Formats: sequence, C-alpha cells, structure tokens
Amino acid sequence: MVVVMAPGATAEELDAVVKTVQDAGGSAFVSRGVHRTIVGLVGDVEQFETLNLRAYPGVVEVVRISTPYKLVSRENHPAMSTVTVSGVPIGPDTFTLIAGPCAVETPEQTLEAAKMAKAAGAALLRGGAYKPRTSPYAFQGLGEKGLRILADVRGETGLPVVTEVVDAHDVDTVASYADMLQIGTRNMQNFGLLQAVGSSGKPVMLKRGMNATIEEWLMAAEYVAQRGNLDIVLCERGIRTFETATRNTLDISAVPVVHALSHLPVVVDPSHSGGRRDLVVPLSRAAIAVGADGIIVDVHPDPGAALCDGPQALVDDDLDQLAASCRDLPPIVGRKLSSPPR
Ligand code: PEP
Ligand code: MN
Repeated sequence: MVVVMAPGATAEELDAVVKTVQDAGGSAFVSRGVHRTIVGLVGDVEQFETLNLRAYPGVVEVVRISTPYKLVSRENHPAMSTVTVSGVPIGPDTFTLIAGPCAVETPEQTLEAAKMAKAAGAALLRGGAYKPRTSPYAFQGLGEKGLRILADVRGETGLPVVTEVVDAHDVDTVASYADMLQIGTRNMQNFGLLQAVGSSGKPVMLKRGMNATIEEWLMAAEYVAQRGNLDIVLCERGIRTFETATRNTLDISAVPVVHALSHLPVVVDPSHSGGRRDLVVPLSRAAIAVGADGIIVDVHPDPGAALCDGPQALVDDDLDQLAASCRDLPPIVGRKLSSPPR
C-alpha cells in the first residue's frame, strides 16, 4: 500500500502517518520527490485498511497495490485452476460446452433438449428448476420436481447437471440432485447464499452480477472460497450498459482481464447476455477466440413454446453451427473440446 502526501504536507503530518503505521506493527518507507512525498507501507494490508489513513491531514491518496481478494487471486496462485464437475474438466486445456434448456418444463422437453445438447458436443447439461424471474407473474420453475427431472435426464444421457439455486435454504436440496450449483446474476452479492454454496461441497458456477465490476465479482467468489470451496467457475453473462439493441452487453474483455487477475476458469453465456438467437453463435466464437474455458448455451426443442427465454434458445441450423464452431475452433487456440464422463 502506498500513501501519497499532498504537495504542501508538513513534516508533522508525514510523521503522524509513519507513526500510525509503525504503531500498527508495519514498516513505512518514505520517499521524498521534488513535488510530493510518498510513503510505502509494508505489513498487513487488511490492518492498514482499518487505520483510515485517507482521513489524515496532508494525505491525498491511499493506493492499494495488492488485490483485496486473496484465495481466488493469481498473485497467490499463479497456475490456472481446472475445476472438475463429475469427471468433466473446465480449465485451461479444454473448452467445455454446457447446454440445455433455460428452464426445466417437462420430462420430455428436458430429455429432448439434453439429447440436442449432447449431439452438439455438450459435456454438461444446464437447466433451471428454480427460475429467478424479473416478474413474479412469470414462470418460476418446477422446484424440486424439476430437480428430479434433471437427475432422471442425467441418468438417461450421462450428462452431469448444472442448475441454479436461488435461496440459501434450498442449497442442500439442490446439491443432493445437482453436479454443479449455479449462482445467477441477480444473486451474485447474496452473501448468505454464497457462503452456503461454499459449504455445499459442490462445484459452483458464479455468474457475474449484471451491475457488478470485475473486482466485485471476484470478491463474491472470495466468499465462496473462504468457506473452503475453490471449485468455482466464473461466468461472464453480460452487464447493463446504455445499449438497448441487446438485452445486456457481453463484456468479452472480462475473460482475459479475469484470467490475468484470477486462477479460476471463466466461461461465457452468449444466450443470456445478448438475449437473441442470432447472436449466440457469433458471441460463442468470440468467447473461444478470447480464451474462455467454456460457454453455457440455451437450447430448446421448440423455442416458440418455451416458458422462459425462447427468443435466445438454439434449435436446428443454429445449433448445428454452434456444434461446428465448438468442434473446429478450440483446437486453433490449443484446446480440446471436453467430453461427457464415460
Ligand atoms: C440462467 O442461466 O438461467 C439465468 C437465469 O441466467 P442469469 O442469472 O445470467 O440471468
Ligand atoms: Mn434464461
């Protein structure tokens, strides 16, 4: 941490900063420039944060050099992590396609969507049983009945299941059916829920809050990690901007930015970000090119009849194009498409 003193700061003001840091057990290294003096602090940064040095007379800025997240940071863990979901790797050597319906509606629709996903090269099945909808009048999901359908479809197709949990009270129930727990964009800062999935023993997919900075997202991951669970995959799913042509703006640069800051894998959701079927294949290709560790895509056997997010669900030709991209492009960037578990 570095304390920047004001150009006219007095010797007493500088001494007060140095003394406070030393009294807290840290070391302060003073560097006097022509125009201003800076003080480098060495010691416990978290403790320095509590000293409120910004409020000291003569101080203009306090700059934190190390990241505020620890467990998920690359500073402390330079090698990239691979998260394995019931035998399926998500990490730097592979590209993992996760696909399935936005929502579980019926056993037939879920099985059909899962077969489509598998034929397209998916190694994991997605599908929501608890749907966090913007409107309370919209379809809210089948709840535990939906989880049972997902488990049955896993039995038939062999695809492990990724599904969202929206309430800390449901974590044990969802964990008893699912292979990976998804935290949706609206719950990225639901800290009780993050702690609960952190204690669940299941891998977690943490979607970026639509209004969250990358630092806030990584701090949310730190909540999960703090409970002893480092099996976390981050998912960029678009953020709110002034643009109205797409539902949200896919922040494609978040992938390399996060890869530089964190050892955790990063996947992209090209379906919920754009909200439009015609964008899913181009955004998926962009995700592969930018180094994403996978994508999570909505597919539906009859998008026109879907109870949730039909306009973005892939079927027929679009799904064929996605499958071709996932087969052909990952090898160009040195990755192998992940297979379902044997
Ligand atoms: C989903 O993946 O089903 C979903 C609701 O996504 P998000 O939380 O990103 O809106
Ligand atoms: Mn959806």
